[in-house]
Amino acid sequence: MAAPGNCRREFCQNPVPTALAAERLCLDHFLDEAFVRADHALEDCRNGRTIHSAELEWLLADALSVVTHLEDQAATPNPADRDHMLELLLILANLHEYVAHHFVQLDIPA
Ligand SMILES: [Zn+2]
Repeated sequence: MAAPGNCRREFCQNPVPTALAAERLCLDHFLDEAFVRADHALEDCRNGRTIHSAELEWLLADALSVVTHLEDQAATPNPADRDHMLELLLILANLHEYVAHHFVQLDIPA
């Protein structure tokens, strides 16, 4: 399998891990982006704002599986990255919990 290449963020030369080939982001940038999006989604849920179903799906399916997959890999990055990943898992778990127990307004495209 061809290497996924480098991160798509401007000025970032970090390699893209295989687990992130679809996102074309390095681990750092993926975690950054997932954090921001998970935080937003959780805040929107709590404020009763409409959540895009695709966004929720990305967070609870794609991002979650990527982080779980990365965590499973033997060549786990440095401890700081690991902490970062565990933090993200916690936010995603909160989001999951919130969605399971509250009425969340989903914007489902027709
Ligand atoms: Zn990057």
